[in-house]
Amino acid sequence: MRTIEDLTRKNIRDLAPYKCARDEFQGEARIYLDANESPFNAPYDRYPDPLQKDLKKKISALKKVRESQIMLGVGSDEPIDLIERIFCEPRIDNIVSIAPSYGMYSVEASVNDIEFREVFLDENFAMNADKMLAATNSHTTVMFICSPNNPTGNIIEKTEILRLLNEWDGIVVIDEAYIDFAPEGSSWLTVLDQYEKLIVLQTFSKAWAMAGIRCGMAFANEPIIQLMNKVKYPYNMNQLTQEYVSRQLDKKEEKEEWVKLTISERERVKTELMKQSNVSFVYPSDANFLLVKMDDAKGTYLRLIDEGIIVRNRSNVRLCEGCLRITIGTKKENDELLKAL
Ligand SMILES: *Cc1c(COP(=O)(O)O)cnc(C)c1O
Repeated sequence: MRTIEDLTRKNIRDLAPYKCARDEFQGEARIYLDANESPFNAPYDRYPDPLQKDLKKKISALKKVRESQIMLGVGSDEPIDLIERIFCEPRIDNIVSIAPSYGMYSVEASVNDIEFREVFLDENFAMNADKMLAATNSHTTVMFICSPNNPTGNIIEKTEILRLLNEWDGIVVIDEAYIDFAPEGSSWLTVLDQYEKLIVLQTFSKAWAMAGIRCGMAFANEPIIQLMNKVKYPYNMNQLTQEYVSRQLDKKEEKEEWVKLTISERERVKTELMKQSNVSFVYPSDANFLLVKMDDAKGTYLRLIDEGIIVRNRSNVRLCEGCLRITIGTKKENDELLKAL
C-alpha cells in the first residue's frame, strides 16, 4: 500500500518552497517595507495574500470543509497541472483517465511527458471500475474521473467510484466542474475526510458564471494541499480575482437562480430537440450542456456557424460519433438555436 509520500515525486518531496515576504511576516503592521513594493497606487500596489485566507474562509463555510483542505488556482486547470507535476515522474509514472473526457488531463500529461492511459466508458457512458483497475500498473499514480463528465454530461456511478477509492492506493481526482447542475447529494466533498488520497476539483467558471476571472478550487486533506501550496506560484491568484469572487460569494441566491433557470432550460431544449427529425438522440445531462446525436452533425455544425451560432462539434470523438455538444444559453439564445436547427 503506497503512502502519499511514496506517490510524491522525489524532487517535490525534497523541495524547499520559496519563502515570499508575505510568508515570513503574517501579522498586521503599520508600515510594510519588506517586499520591494511601490507605496503608491493602493491597494493594488501590494502583493496579494499567497494563501487567499479571506476567500478560503468564505469557501470553507459554503462547502463545509476546513480552510486547510482548500487550494485555489487560476481555474481548475492549474490544480490539474499541479497534481500531474507533483505525483507523476516524467517518462516513468502514468495516469489513468476515463474517456472521452476533458482534454486538459491529457494535454498536461503531454506537456509533462507523462504516459496517459484512456479507459473508454461503455456505450451508455458508464464507468467500469474493473476496467479502470486493469489499466493500472505499479507506476500508475493518478486517476482522473470527471463527474458529471464532459462531453457526455452524465454523473459517474457512485458504486464504481467507491470501488476505486476503496481498492486502489493511488491519487483519485474527481473533477466536479458541473456539480451544481447535478442532483443534490452527487458531490464527493462530503467524504473528503475519509479518503486521504481523494482530490475533488470544482470551479467558479460554470455555475458561478465567472470563467473570465479564472478561479478554480481543489479540495483534499492537508498533506496533499500542503504539497500543492509548496509547488504553486506564490502569488498565483491576483488581488482583483480574490476580491471579485469574494463579493460574488455573497450573492449565492443569484447564482442559485441562474442554475435553476439553466436546468429548466436544459430540460425544455432537450424536449424540443427530440421532436426534430434530424435529431436521433439527446443524452441525459447532469450538466449545463446537451450531447445531441444528429444526422449530418458536421454539416449542421457548419450551417449553425453560418447563422452565427457556435456549438461544439464532437462528432470525431470516439463514442460521440455524430454528436454536437450544445451549451445551454439564455431562453432567447436557446430559442434561436432551436429555430436554426
Ligand atoms: C470547464 C471545465 C473545467 C473548468 O476549468 P477552469 O480552468 O476552472 O475554467 C474543469 N473541468 C472540466 C471537466 C470542465 O469542463
